[in-house]
Amino acid sequence: MLTSIKGRSVVVTGASKGIGKGIARVFANQGARVMVVARGAEAAAATAREFGNGAQSYSADVTDFASLQAMAKATAEAFGGIDILCANAGIFPHVKIEEMSPDDWDHVLGTNLKGNFLSVKACLPYLKKSDQGRVVLTSSITGPITGFPGWAHYGASKSGQLGFMRTACIELAKYGITINAVMPGNIITEGLEDLGEDYLATMVASIPLKKLGVVEDIGNAALFLASKEAHYITGQTIVVDGGQTVPESLEALEQA
Ligand code: NAP
Repeated sequence: MLTSIKGRSVVVTGASKGIGKGIARVFANQGARVMVVARGAEAAAATAREFGNGAQSYSADVTDFASLQAMAKATAEAFGGIDILCANAGIFPHVKIEEMSPDDWDHVLGTNLKGNFLSVKACLPYLKKSDQGRVVLTSSITGPITGFPGWAHYGASKSGQLGFMRTACIELAKYGITINAVMPGNIITEGLEDLGEDYLATMVASIPLKKLGVVEDIGNAALFLASKEAHYITGQTIVVDGGQTVPESLEALEQA
C-alpha cells in the first residue's frame, strides 16, 4: 500500500470532471489535501464538496499564468505548500487539417501544451520547498504513439508534453522533483461519451482487454508516480490503455 500521500498537498488541474476528477478522487481517498482546479467555479466547488476530506476548489484557467499563480499561492496558503501537481486539464476538439484554422491550432496547443508549462512554472516555487515534489502530466496515446483523423493539433500537443517533460526532468532534478506522464487510452468520461456510441463500440473492439478504462485507472497510475516509493522514476511514461496500442494489426487481435 502506498502510504506516503496522506496529508500531502495536491493540485489537480481540470479536476471538475472526467479524468482529472478521477485523479483527484483517488488522491482524496488516500487522505491527501486536494485542490480541485477548473475554469468553472461552481462545478469545481461541487466536486470538492463531493470528495470531502478537506478538498478545496479554485477557479483558474491554465492558459492564464496570472490565474495559475494566484491558484498556487492560495493552495500553499490553504494547505501549507504544494507537494504534487497533476497537470491534467486538456481539450480535444475534433477538426480535420483542411478545415482547421490557425486559431483552432493555437487554442489546443495553448491549453494542452503551454498550459502544462504554465502550470509547472506557477507551482514550481512551492514544489521546490517540498521533500516529495512531484509533477504528473496527463498526456495520451494519441500523438506520442498513435494518430486519429481530426486530432492533428491534439496529437501534436500530447507529444509536445513529453518533449517538455524530458527537459523539465533534468532541470527539476536538482530540487528532488520528479516529472512523469500518464498516457491514457480510451477512458470513459463525459467528454468521450459525447463522441457517440459508434465511436465507443469501435474503440472497445480494438482493445485487447475489450473494455474502456475508467478515470480511477489513470488516478491510480498518477498516485503511484506521485508516491514516495516512485522517487527514482522521472522523465518516464506509463501507458494505461488496456493493451490498445499493442496489436500490430486487426488480424493479430482476431487470431487471439
Ligand atoms: P473532460 O472530461 O472534458 O474534462 C476537462 C476538464 O478540464 C474539466 O474539468 C474542465 O473544466 C477543465 N478545463 C478545460 N480547459 C481548461 C482550462 N483552460 N483551464 C482549466 N481547466 C480547464 O476531459 P477528459 O476526457 O477528462 O480529459 C482530461 C485529460 O485527459 C486531457 O488532458 C486529455 O487530453 C486527456 N486524455 C483523455 C482521454 C479520454 O479518453 N478521455 C484519453 C487520453 C487523454 P472547465 O471547462 O470548467 O475549465
